[in-house]
Amino acid sequence: MSKYLLTPGPVELPHEVILAGAQQLVGHRTPEFSELLSSIEIKLGKLLKSDGPVVILPSSGTGALECLTVNFLKKGDKFLSVSCGEFGDRFRKIAEQTGAEALCLDVPMGSVAEPAAVSKFVSQHPECKVLFLTHNETSTGIVNPIKEIVSSLPNENRPFVLVDGVSSVGTMECFPDEWGVDGLATASQKGLLTPPGLGFVWLSKKAWIYIDTKECSSYYFDLKLHRKVLVSEFPANPFTPPISLYFALNVALDIILEQGLDNWFKSRIRYSKALAVGLESLGFELLVSNKKFRSPGLTAFYSTTLNTEAVRKNLKSMKIETAGGMGNLKDKLIRVAHYNDCAWPELSMILGSLYASAIKLGANPNTNYITKALNTWNEETYINHEK
Ligand SMILES: *Cc1c(COP(=O)(O)O)cnc(C)c1O
Repeated sequence: MSKYLLTPGPVELPHEVILAGAQQLVGHRTPEFSELLSSIEIKLGKLLKSDGPVVILPSSGTGALECLTVNFLKKGDKFLSVSCGEFGDRFRKIAEQTGAEALCLDVPMGSVAEPAAVSKFVSQHPECKVLFLTHNETSTGIVNPIKEIVSSLPNENRPFVLVDGVSSVGTMECFPDEWGVDGLATASQKGLLTPPGLGFVWLSKKAWIYIDTKECSSYYFDLKLHRKVLVSEFPANPFTPPISLYFALNVALDIILEQGLDNWFKSRIRYSKALAVGLESLGFELLVSNKKFRSPGLTAFYSTTLNTEAVRKNLKSMKIETAGGMGNLKDKLIRVAHYNDCAWPELSMILGSLYASAIKLGANPNTNYITKALNTWNEETYINHEK
């Protein structure tokens, strides 16, 4: 019997991605590796709609976030940090580790950072050179309107906007160049459908020029060093990279791009909308009440009548692995990911299993949940054959 890994990273991978990672290695100082890396760079460029280099680090997402902070901040600096959950808090802590001081704007969990509020916050602290934001807050399942936030910022003295895109890139539109973002960090094991172990950092042209003048306190995470070998005649990594993960990533990017970016993103939205309708008719509540800001990549929900942890345990007995709440929401939330190419069979599997759990735990949920989910699924039309 199958197991179902629904945690918001890592997720179940396409078979081709797993196989690609299992092939024999090539040396990391060979033309073959340079070719592989160049091909990945082109695909990442399409995904982000940018021709700037994307530095690939052997690290998880946290390493990529740390890489951003150590290249922009040093002891004595002040920075702006907007948080709407556990990962916003973590980005702040990582930045504080440089010895810089945080000025904080905190948004209640389940709500977004409002552009007007962020803009006001930024105007009040013109001395700060850097603003940290989270795109998709994985602890709550909310998507911050990064594009709108950035365009609301004052033009004069605008800080560098550095975004945690760990759970957004690959799952939803994230176009840093177009949106005026200055730095973006992400990782392999969420929307990029690759095993854990790769971190990614992208910078705007303006940000590259800025960090050129700055000393980086880290040897391993010095972006200038990474860029130097990445944009050379034979693109490479300054240190030994996890070559197998590059093979896997290259194939995962093909899978995402093959369907057409727009279709890929729309199909994630379609799944999340139908899931939300199904969950609500089963009697669950979504943590993010405003539909507009619900994540296409993961859904966080809870029950007001059933013990949420008991539901998770019951799912686990059916070999369905979900994630619980984080921080203050520990034991109060079920989080399921849908970063990957899941569709109606997966949707009916999770909803049907939740129905069974609810019955098992003594509830009497509506049986029309599946019809309602299917109606929403069918309303969300999208073209699936455009390349
Ligand atoms: C998963 C996640 C991280 C942490 O990434 P790791 O790969 O576990 O280090 C950071 N930020 C967000 C938004 C995440 O979803």
